[in-house]
Amino acid sequence: MDYLAGLNPSQRAAVEQTEGPVMIVAGAGSGKTRVITYRVAHLVRRGVDPFNILVLTFTNKAAKEMRERIMKVVGNEAKNIWMGTFHSVFAKILRVEAEHIGYPRNFTIYDTDDSKSLIRSILKEMQLDDKLYNAGFVYNRISSAKNNLISAQEYLNNDQVQAEDYSNGRGQLGQIYLTFTQRCYKAGAMDFDDLLFKTNVLFREFPEVLHRYQHKFKYLMVDEYQDTNFSQYLIVRKLAAINENICVVGDDAQSIYAFRGANIQNILNFEKDYSDLKVFKLEQNYRSTQNIVNAANSIIANNQNQLKKSVFSENETGEKIKVCRAFSDNEEGKIVAEAIAQERSLKGWNYRDFAILYRTNAQSRAMEEALRKISIPYKIYGGTSFYQRKEIKDLIAYFRLTFNPNDEEAIKRVINYPRRGIGDTTVDRILIAADKHQLTLWDVISNAATYLDGRSAGAVGIFATMIQGFQVVAKGHSAFDAAMHIAQHSGLLKDLYQDKSVEGLSRYENIQELLNGIKEFSEREDIEEKGLDVFMQDIALLTNDDNDKNPNADTVSLMTIHSSKGLEFPHVFIVGLEENLFPSQLSLNSRSELEEERRLFYVAVTRAEKKLTLSYATSRYRWGTLNNCEPSRFLDELNPAYLELDFKARTTPESTASFADERQAWGQRDMFTKPKPKVAPKTTAILPKAHTPSPGFAPSDTSGLQVGMEVEHERFGFGKVINLEGNKNDVKATIFFKELGQKQLLLKFAKLRIV
Ligand code: ATP
Ligand code: MG
Repeated sequence: MDYLAGLNPSQRAAVEQTEGPVMIVAGAGSGKTRVITYRVAHLVRRGVDPFNILVLTFTNKAAKEMRERIMKVVGNEAKNIWMGTFHSVFAKILRVEAEHIGYPRNFTIYDTDDSKSLIRSILKEMQLDDKLYNAGFVYNRISSAKNNLISAQEYLNNDQVQAEDYSNGRGQLGQIYLTFTQRCYKAGAMDFDDLLFKTNVLFREFPEVLHRYQHKFKYLMVDEYQDTNFSQYLIVRKLAAINENICVVGDDAQSIYAFRGANIQNILNFEKDYSDLKVFKLEQNYRSTQNIVNAANSIIANNQNQLKKSVFSENETGEKIKVCRAFSDNEEGKIVAEAIAQERSLKGWNYRDFAILYRTNAQSRAMEEALRKISIPYKIYGGTSFYQRKEIKDLIAYFRLTFNPNDEEAIKRVINYPRRGIGDTTVDRILIAADKHQLTLWDVISNAATYLDGRSAGAVGIFATMIQGFQVVAKGHSAFDAAMHIAQHSGLLKDLYQDKSVEGLSRYENIQELLNGIKEFSEREDIEEKGLDVFMQDIALLTNDDNDKNPNADTVSLMTIHSSKGLEFPHVFIVGLEENLFPSQLSLNSRSELEEERRLFYVAVTRAEKKLTLSYATSRYRWGTLNNCEPSRFLDELNPAYLELDFKARTTPESTASFADERQAWGQRDMFTKPKPKVAPKTTAILPKAHTPSPGFAPSDTSGLQVGMEVEHERFGFGKVINLEGNKNDVKATIFFKELGQKQLLLKFAKLRIV
């Protein structure tokens, strides 16, 4: 069978144009990723060695899926294609070449937590205010410098940057950046951005190394090219410089990472960089119904800064896009959960056909609660990885130290966990000694007797001997045996085992799970080197999604819009379409930021294949306070021809309060709760507000009062009469007031009116 049959003529032309520079800038769902997949298969079928092909994808998961598809066409050869994210591919290359740039092969990769913790130590040492120099802020600043290939030294030498920092009262940023860089280097560690920055250093300083890779990667392909930053752009350009067999695909309308330094300029530059560039257009959307495609087009038309493209769909017209209004975030969750349950039973859809997309991670809570309530299985994508859990990071810190004892963050993490009598003061002394003698922390620790006084030297010495013992064990044993030895002899396993709380138990299970994973790794037959060090390299860049044990489980997918890029689902819900949430409050300062939010909305809408539901709440808890919300401006921008408003009355607000007392007061038999033993009423901190009588309130004649009537009392507010007794002049009324509950009043004195 013709394996290229599943392509339209323009897609096919792009696939067959294997030589020379190729660019495809086309709308969502038009088959860009499909073109890359087929192109790789086509290259291998035509005899190109898979080792000579490099494909850069946006997530590891995307690479995995692509590889599986290619495998169907070319078989096991597909395993040898270099395929992955920029970070994972270049981390692999840096391991091989590390020594050129003065790093050990076993360098540690600091994740965001490690980096921020290091920044905090530096701030403390420099005695800087950690509010002014918030660690997250400093981290982003350093990250953006690195992504623009500005070194610490260059940062310090740049008068304009320095002037700007000083005028913002943050004149020390450059110095922090420099210290951060030096400390990472000393610790044999790179942060995420270093993986790209150092690759650029490697390629610039060592032309012979670059040359090798230029020859190795004869064919290069980059998916989601619109979201590459300058550092990535330069790597690609250098690698492609000799063969110029480079194919990039992207969509400027889906560029959503400007805040991380991604630059649309990369697409525009591409034409300048390659004079004989072939550009292919893909205009047909195969993913979504016509209504969805047209609605998406109507959104993006509001952006001024956009390359003109036409996108059409020949799929069915499809249902209109539903817009739902809820009065709270919890009700919004309920609407979504019920819609999923209903659609599944009426139309026979599976849970995996549904995705719920939101702007911020915090929104998942209300959705999760609602789904759990009616037992809908779900999975959160892009969440914190298994490897980010505290107990896992602790054990991994011991592994890290075993292979790279200079790793400062790992030392700080476990030097006194489990407790072994090395207090904060001793740790400070180690830091001071290292600084004074220009040594690494490990130099001090492994020569404790020389640099520390008696008592602390003893405990620290034992720690050093333990780590040295781990190093010996790791050399001669399989990954699993080494890991088990370390888990036991570090005392970590015992410490967790002794904690019998629910959380303790789950932490212990997580460690078991990690050890099981290492066991599986030790028994793999497709790799030769199975040491713990190799396992560690494998996991350093994994996310939660990559570690998905059961990717085909039938669950609803929950994720932020940022992590939904490239994906598709039959029915998509986009929730929280409210001003200040989506578009985000932080994006309202400039047109370019607002346009990025709009592109984000475009990305979200174009994930839907058959059905799209948008929702907003009129009130929502944010940062602990209840806010009234306005519907998002993006709802107004959608062409109403494709919308269907679904504002029917909803359920009453959910409340955890029991109305048993009220039901009793109404004289109704309580069918839901057993009669409670009488106890004194709890005093609540919040007293009912004093009643403000209705305008013009005046007590009126109550002689015609009957049971069941509604009344207003000057002070007690509104209520309902539930009993009347006594004779004419002495009538006693039992009234149930909304705010205060039941009261008995003598009618002749009561300031009441019938409403
Ligand atoms: P995005 O911009 O969202 O990343 P994309 O341009 O990469 O989208 P793909 O994911 O490659 O688009 O394709 C969208 C959907 O359309 C996929 O399900 C794909 O299999 C299907 N598709 C693409 N081209 C064709 C075709 N010629 N025939 C049938 N289905 C196609
Ligand atoms: Mg794609």
